[in-house]
Amino acid sequence: MPHPAIVKDNVAVITGGASGIGFAAATAFARARMKVCVADVDEARLAEAATKLSSVTAAANVMTSAVDVSKVESVTKLERVVRERFGGTDILMNNAGIQPGSTLFGEPDNWQRIIDVNMWGIINGSRIFAPRMIARGKPGLIINTGSKQGITTPPGDPAYNVSKAGVKAFTEALQHELRNTKGCHITAHLLIPGFVFTGLTAKGRTEKPAGAWTPDETVDFMLARLEAGDFYILCPDNDVPRALDEKRMLWAM
Ligand code: NAD
Repeated sequence: MPHPAIVKDNVAVITGGASGIGFAAATAFARARMKVCVADVDEARLAEAATKLSSVTAAANVMTSAVDVSKVESVTKLERVVRERFGGTDILMNNAGIQPGSTLFGEPDNWQRIIDVNMWGIINGSRIFAPRMIARGKPGLIINTGSKQGITTPPGDPAYNVSKAGVKAFTEALQHELRNTKGCHITAHLLIPGFVFTGLTAKGRTEKPAGAWTPDETVDFMLARLEAGDFYILCPDNDVPRALDEKRMLWAM
């Protein structure tokens, strides 16, 4: 039994939906005969995504929308255009993310942009969409894409770690709020992918490295865990307890 929000004619909005994990999710929701809005900052990729989705579902079930998730007015417009075209949103997947790299004391612009896109993007999406989703009175989902790095915070890319730690904290607060909202049938979920071979991680590679997941595998796992009702959707190649133990040992020395 799929999750009750993943049903024919329900509406899914996926940010960062033009490639990688987001596109795989858009495809899966389209295959479930949902209406899908693919939202992304990359307009060229949006057009490609729409073409690819036309082999999966009728054109009437797909819309694309240019959005910059870091900007409140852009996300506000996204929510409005989806409502005008499809009547409202049942599933929001706040998934857009960037990882250009950062060092602790350098690159102030990178820091700002990483936090703006990865953390504010998820906050903006959730805060703008959730009240209208709740008002529909139907089962719905808000899926926020975090990262193992937001939990284990390994050395190397502090701005990304901070942004994803913020995603985790915000999503936990959101789920708490949704659970305590009378008449609310929306649940929040934190997707923590493993190592997924996408534009974000390819870094010049054209072949999927051994052990990496495909975006489709990640989304299949996510759908199974949503069905099971998990809040933390922790892809199993992510050994978070071991990573935390290693850090504890490192800092004990
Ligand atoms: P990807 O680069 O294929 O997809 C990210 C998408 O986000 C792109 O289409 C990009 O254009 C879009 N985007 C970037 N900035 C945006 C903005 N301001 N507004 C709207 N869209 C924007 O990468 P992916 O691996 O599919 O990443 C999806 C999410 O998964 C990200 O949040 C990433 O941090 C997270 N993640 C990925 C991995 C992995 O191994 N690939 C692991 C952990 C977490």
